[in-house]
Amino acid sequence: SSMSIDSIKKTIRDHDIHFIRFEQSDLHGVSRSKTVPVGSFMDYIENGLNFYGGLLGLDIQSMVPKGTGYAEEVAFADHCTVPDLSTFTVLPWVPNTANITVDPYWYDGTPAMASPRLLLKKLINTFDSLGYICRLGYEFEFYVLNKDTKKPVYDGQPIFVTLKNNFDIDFIYDLMRKMDQAGVRIITQNSEHGPGQQEINLYYKDGLAAADTAFLYKMGTKEIALQHGYIATWLTKPFINSSGSGSHFHVSLIDKKTGKNAFDDPNGEYGLTDLARKFLAGMLKHARANTVFTAPTINCYKRYRVNSFAPHSATWGMENRTVGIRVKGCRGQSTHFENRLACAGTNPYLLALTTLAAGLEGIQSSPELPAPITDIAYERDDVPRLPGSLDEAIAAFEQDTDLHAVLDPEFIKLVLALKKFEVETARARFPDYGTPEFNNRIDPWEWDYYMELI
Ligand code: GLU
Ligand code: MG
Ligand code: MG
Repeated sequence: SSMSIDSIKKTIRDHDIHFIRFEQSDLHGVSRSKTVPVGSFMDYIENGLNFYGGLLGLDIQSMVPKGTGYAEEVAFADHCTVPDLSTFTVLPWVPNTANITVDPYWYDGTPAMASPRLLLKKLINTFDSLGYICRLGYEFEFYVLNKDTKKPVYDGQPIFVTLKNNFDIDFIYDLMRKMDQAGVRIITQNSEHGPGQQEINLYYKDGLAAADTAFLYKMGTKEIALQHGYIATWLTKPFINSSGSGSHFHVSLIDKKTGKNAFDDPNGEYGLTDLARKFLAGMLKHARANTVFTAPTINCYKRYRVNSFAPHSATWGMENRTVGIRVKGCRGQSTHFENRLACAGTNPYLLALTTLAAGLEGIQSSPELPAPITDIAYERDDVPRLPGSLDEAIAAFEQDTDLHAVLDPEFIKLVLALKKFEVETARARFPDYGTPEFNNRIDPWEWDYYMELI
């Protein structure tokens, strides 16, 4: 949806907008913003908005690790951020307020290519020039906690139990209605397996708008929950004995010329086109390296466990819920892959970016597609295991130079510096960091450290 400045001005009048939030995603997918009174809005549209450039190089706790290229290295310089008019959205859950997403540029005009959104925009353009539209759908599992006690809002293991879906119908309907008004199309809501765990899935969108919508959804859900006295948390594994929160991600490519699904071929092997099999092989080839993005926190490695419906292996299968990448049973125009590796704590921009980057690399290098898993993946020990800790994931990412070739050096440098800093922080605190024992308990520190995801 491309909005002209005139239609934005009209929306501002029609909706009595007094404030505009200039918003961007940090590396964790946490929204960081400045709020601007409407009188200054046009100034920033025309000239850009100064925004602390180090923001992209901030740790989740707003600490400033060295070596990111965003701190001392550039004397904590500002970015000039440029609003993307297509993202202007009236926020139904904040009075008289709209938001607009900004992209960071250095003051010499070069784009800050560590920005998840700018990188994704570029990659989607690459697919466009190859003749494909990227069709992307997000799922979100999250726990709802009492704001003060931080306890789940109900007990039990209630998946799909109607009375638990509707534990507070005012909250759930408020959330669903306001999302719809903001252009976030929800397809389903239900209670998930854990106490207080809910799931909301979005209708697919094409291209960058899908990730923008997911980012808006994650922020809005937290804000609306707080208004009702709850915390909606993206902490991936809040309780060791309850299911983790995944953020499964659905992807297909659409042929621009014909409008047809480019993954579907009833006569091809597995009912897939050659393109689809290469894309899938790429996703598998880079799954371990991409764990740095699909499981971006120390806490996330506690989700990857057997018999939990979260994956533990870099595998694929047809309608198999125990593998990393599931080829969904629906065919024809709906043929697509479900990336089940992603955690609730995953940045939606990076989830799309790294799934598509792996797929693109697969299209370019045609790696061999391993056989699908047809039984329970958890019961097999001949499958490639996912990294057991963030530092194993960092090592896998560092070694995956084929993947680096479809990303950006500035981004790779930032990711490695920030993730290493995170591991060092945990290692300094926990002598057993990275061991099975550590992965078998949740320390209160994880709640504190990942506060902004909570
Ligand atoms: N909670 C599971 C996960 O962490 C997913 C359960 C499901 O299949 O929806 O991925
Ligand atoms: Mg689920
Ligand atoms: Mg799913």
